[in-house]
Amino acid sequence: HEVAVVLGTRPEIIKLAGVVRTLGETARVIFTAQHYQDDLSDVFFRSLGLPQPYLSLAGIGGASRGMQIAQGVDQLVQHFETQRPHLVIVQGDTNATSAGAQAANYCGIPLLHVEAGLRSYDRDMPEEINRKVVSVMADVHCAPTVCNANNLLAEGILPAQIRVTGNTIVEATWDAIPNAEVSSAVMSTYGVDGDDFILATIHRPENTDSALRLAKILRELVALPYPVIFPVHPRTAARVREFGLDHLIDRLRPVLPLDRTTFLTLARSARLLISDSGGVLEECTILKKPLVVVRKSTERPEAISTGFAVRVTADEGILDQVSRILADPGLCEVLKRVPSPYGDGKATERIAGIATAMVRGEMPPFTD
Ligand code: UDP
Repeated sequence: HEVAVVLGTRPEIIKLAGVVRTLGETARVIFTAQHYQDDLSDVFFRSLGLPQPYLSLAGIGGASRGMQIAQGVDQLVQHFETQRPHLVIVQGDTNATSAGAQAANYCGIPLLHVEAGLRSYDRDMPEEINRKVVSVMADVHCAPTVCNANNLLAEGILPAQIRVTGNTIVEATWDAIPNAEVSSAVMSTYGVDGDDFILATIHRPENTDSALRLAKILRELVALPYPVIFPVHPRTAARVREFGLDHLIDRLRPVLPLDRTTFLTLARSARLLISDSGGVLEECTILKKPLVVVRKSTERPEAISTGFAVRVTADEGILDQVSRILADPGLCEVLKRVPSPYGDGKATERIAGIATAMVRGEMPPFTD
């Protein structure tokens, strides 16, 4: 196990599963358990054909951000000191990503950052700070898009350290879309037929941690002209209980977090998507579905500039944007012809190749 792949949340499992599978025996998965509920982690390990984690960190999920990162670094450094890998891979911008990057850097182990160079330029987002910390520490940065690579160059990262690979979400999505039989079974389980429904997910602190804002979002979802299937993230579920908003959520079609096949089947069929998720913002460009992004900033502007998504804050309200999309019946046909800005489906292969070159000591030094 020369490569330690550190991951801790649902999107990291989804986006790194292919890299872990491609590296095979070389890779050891270290799970920080930031997402510790089965339906955000175990389900994905199993369905994506990942081995059980080589090591799962203890007592991190649910702790404060500072404690999650501090305890993560502590446990990872102890592990790396006794079983030193030749390379550490981290993905994205979570507390697990930050802890994995710091532990690798403090132990002097080469670090590969997957999904590097995303920037919202919004310092209120903990993820933005995590991304910057990791960028300072990484030896090689796999940027999904040219825009992401340019962000890194502007911060002084050397061109030779950057590779534009695309995002693994493209092939991870293609691979997870089920056949017609499974799709129709999913649709009948959820009582939907055709595209007469909307799929919505909301989980970011900016939308869930204020009672007023969460109530406003839920009220607007209730007012939409189609039934709304609403997979409820654990954080959202906790806030809904705390703020006494069950009466609103009960007027939607709330469901537990979905496995990926079910989620993608519904997302692919829905009339449109509403979400504050980074992953869903990428997936809408692969599924060719219009999306209303409920966020005050985004680190994924490509999905908006290519016409797949439109961004609004909860305070501005989602109803106008939904009406605009519904009033444009030709939109989906247009989107079908627009390629995803997130790559050609070969990011996994490229990233695994870069990891192998780093283990062999071929990168760095770099030859550009
Ligand atoms: N997802 C899922 N089931 C759900 C909701 C989302 O499988 O009920 C997937 C979705 O397809 C996407 C990923 O989870 O790939 C996004 O994760 P999340 O929204 O937790 O994190 P973010 O991408 O915002 O960091």
